[in-house]
Amino acid sequence: MNTLSSSPAGPPRELTLQEVIRKYHDVSPFAIIKADVTRRSLSYTEKALRAVDPRIHQYEQRVLIGSNGDDQAAVPVALTLRDGSSIIAMPSRTATNPYVVDEIDGRLWLTDKGEAVEEVEYWYKPAYYDQFTSAGTPMWQVASARPQRIDIDPNSHCEFWNKGGGCKFCNINANSAKSHKERNIAKRLSPRDVYETVREALKEPGAFTNLKMSSGSILSGEQLLDDEVDMYIEMLQAAGENFKTKKFPSTIVASAFSEKQLARLYENTGLLTYTSDIEIPNEALFAWICKGKHEKVGYQEWKRRIIAAVDIFGPGNVSTGIVGGCETAQPHGFQNESEALKAVLEEAEDFASRGVSVVHTVWVPMHGSAFHKQKTPSLEYYAQLAKGLHNLRRKYKLNIDMDNYRKCGNHPDTDLDRVI
Ligand code: SF4
Repeated sequence: MNTLSSSPAGPPRELTLQEVIRKYHDVSPFAIIKADVTRRSLSYTEKALRAVDPRIHQYEQRVLIGSNGDDQAAVPVALTLRDGSSIIAMPSRTATNPYVVDEIDGRLWLTDKGEAVEEVEYWYKPAYYDQFTSAGTPMWQVASARPQRIDIDPNSHCEFWNKGGGCKFCNINANSAKSHKERNIAKRLSPRDVYETVREALKEPGAFTNLKMSSGSILSGEQLLDDEVDMYIEMLQAAGENFKTKKFPSTIVASAFSEKQLARLYENTGLLTYTSDIEIPNEALFAWICKGKHEKVGYQEWKRRIIAAVDIFGPGNVSTGIVGGCETAQPHGFQNESEALKAVLEEAEDFASRGVSVVHTVWVPMHGSAFHKQKTPSLEYYAQLAKGLHNLRRKYKLNIDMDNYRKCGNHPDTDLDRVI
């Protein structure tokens, strides 16, 4: 792999964290730290774990992709940095060079090879986490709390996996099967549980400003994905019973629906913003990495549908997510980071010029995914990717309030919105 700082004369050399921070002085150092901790993962010392107070900290969450925590140990689900942005990462079994969170003189620090890098806090837990619905479901299993957003993932099974078409970076079905078996976390939520949990969450003054839903893809129905649309309508209506107005601050991260399906969703729910992830913004790599999506819908049609959603939700209210760095997965991905970055930003510009924001997560080769043995690109790649996507939003005057550091917290590029 040729990294961005490779020279023809010598072997590839990756810049260190401090070198990247110095070189990219127009990128927030907190966004760079977040990218590095996410790509390298993290672990906790015994002292750091003793600082987790289960009464006030979040140590378990319902998530679609990643990990729902471990009953045997209270491990924080995320960290807050000094600028208020977050690092959403759990320890990974596949990590070879993780950061270490340690407690030093009563404060929590991210450390690297024994050196303190940055002070952190654990995410706090909202009061509803300890309550139960009338059906007896723990409310933390219904809705996860992001900094100021209620996250509800009503269906944690993706049907693209059924015939071997699951995206190669994703562990959704492995994660939900494990969570169901070991912790009795339901794969499908009930609308009543959703209604009751949102009702309790909203009692916390000023805590939440947005509600997000996401799900594994459901392919069935008269038209492909009709049943997924029906599921969102049912769940959004249940959540919406808690609001006085028909529309309420909300988003979904869903499959790419047809215009007819999008109109049905918009007209029958309080939904205000929409995301469907293109994942890998390159048709040939999408066909390899997101085989199921490509076979059932196809890259060009998936993209066309996302852009068509702007006519319904409006510019700045539609975004698409990419798994940043996954375009360098081998053997078919880019061998050269400069070429990968150029291709990604060109395609992102095509989306942005049509009113769609592109946001990136940091690719984690996580256990349970087909790519668990892959290697992520250099940290410098992520600094340039975040800056490039942020600059496109400025160029095309797209706001990303729907996915900013308060509402999601998982995108280094949208963290830049708050400082530049
Ligand atoms: S569509 Fe792909 S990324 Fe989304 S849940 Fe299914 S396998 Fe995972």
